[in-house]
Amino acid sequence: MSHNYFIRNLLNIKDKNIIFEENFCVEEKINGVKSKVFHGILTYQPKACYVCGHVFDHQIIKHGFKTSIIKMPSVSGFNAYLKLKKQRYYCKHCESTFTLTTDVVAKNCFISNNTKAAIALHAREKISEKDIAQTHNVSHSTVNRIINSFYNYFKPNFYYLPKHLCFDEFKSVKSAAGAMSFIFCDSKTGKIVDIVEDRRLHVLREYFLQYSKKARDSVKTVVIDIYSPYISLIKDVFPNARIIIDKFHIHQLFSRALNKTRIKVMNRHKKNYNQLKKYWRLILKDESKVDYIHFRYHRSFKKQIREKDIIHYLIDLDLYCKIKVQSFAKKKCRELHFINK
Ligand SMILES: [Zn+2]
Repeated sequence: MSHNYFIRNLLNIKDKNIIFEENFCVEEKINGVKSKVFHGILTYQPKACYVCGHVFDHQIIKHGFKTSIIKMPSVSGFNAYLKLKKQRYYCKHCESTFTLTTDVVAKNCFISNNTKAAIALHAREKISEKDIAQTHNVSHSTVNRIINSFYNYFKPNFYYLPKHLCFDEFKSVKSAAGAMSFIFCDSKTGKIVDIVEDRRLHVLREYFLQYSKKARDSVKTVVIDIYSPYISLIKDVFPNARIIIDKFHIHQLFSRALNKTRIKVMNRHKKNYNQLKKYWRLILKDESKVDYIHFRYHRSFKKQIREKDIIHYLIDLDLYCKIKVQSFAKKKCRELHFINK
C-alpha cells in the first residue's frame, strides 16, 4: 500500500483524490505556533463544469492550483494543518474557473469536518466553550457556531398531537420558573412530545394554545396525577379528552388517608396502641390477598386468630373513624368520577 494510504489513515481522510508529496509533513510556524503541516494535493477529473454544468470534455482544462490551509485535529499535542493544493480548472464554455472540492472541508471554510466533529463530541462534556476552543485551537465563536450547527434546536410540530397523552412534572434546573418543569409524552409509545420549563397553569395554557384546534381536538385521553390545575387546563384546551388519574396516585391518596386515620385512632385508644401500630400493613392490604382461612397465634391478641379477624377488630375499634374513612373513599370516588363528566 502506498504512503498516501497511510497518511490518509493517520489523518482520517476518506477522500482518495488527495495525494501527498514525498516530504508530506514538515514543522512550520503558523500564527507564531510550531505546528505539524501536511502537504497534500487534491486532483481529479470532474464530471462537469461546476459553474455551467457542461459535461467534462477537452474544453475544460487544468488551470493551476489554489492552496488553502485547513485546520486538522491535533497530532501528538501539536496543532496540525493540511496545506492542500486544490486543482483549478478553466471552462471555455462559460469562460470561468472553478476549484475542486473535497469532503475533508466545507466550501469556503478552513476548519476540517473532522475538527468540527471532534468539537461537537467534546461539547457533550461539562466544559466551557472557551476551553473547547483552546483545546482545538479555534476561536470561541467558532465553537459556538459549530455546536449550534450540530445540535439543532427542537421545534415541536404544532399541527399534531398524539391521541393519548401523559402529563407529569419534574425538577429540572434551579433557574426554572415555578420550581417544577412540565413534561408530556405519548402514553402509548412512551415517546416524549415536549418539555415546558414552567408548569404553572397560565404558561401551560399559553403553550398548548399554540397547537392547532384540530390537533387539540384529536386528543382522546390524558393521564395525570392529582394536581388539580391540570384538570381545568385539560377541559379548556382538549375539549374531547377524558381524564385518567394515574393509578399510583389514587393508591397513594387512599393509603395516606388510611394511615392518618389509623394514627389518630391509635393515639385515642391507648389500650390498642401496639396492635394498631403493629398491624398497619394489614389495614392497607389488598382485600383479595387477606388470609380468611388460617388461624395463627398472635402474641398481642394472646390467641389463634385469622388475618381477617384482626382487620375487623381494628376497624371496629372506632366507629367514628370507620364512617369517616368510608365517606372519604366515597367522596373521592365521586370526585374522580365527576372529573370525566
Ligand atoms: Zn463552464
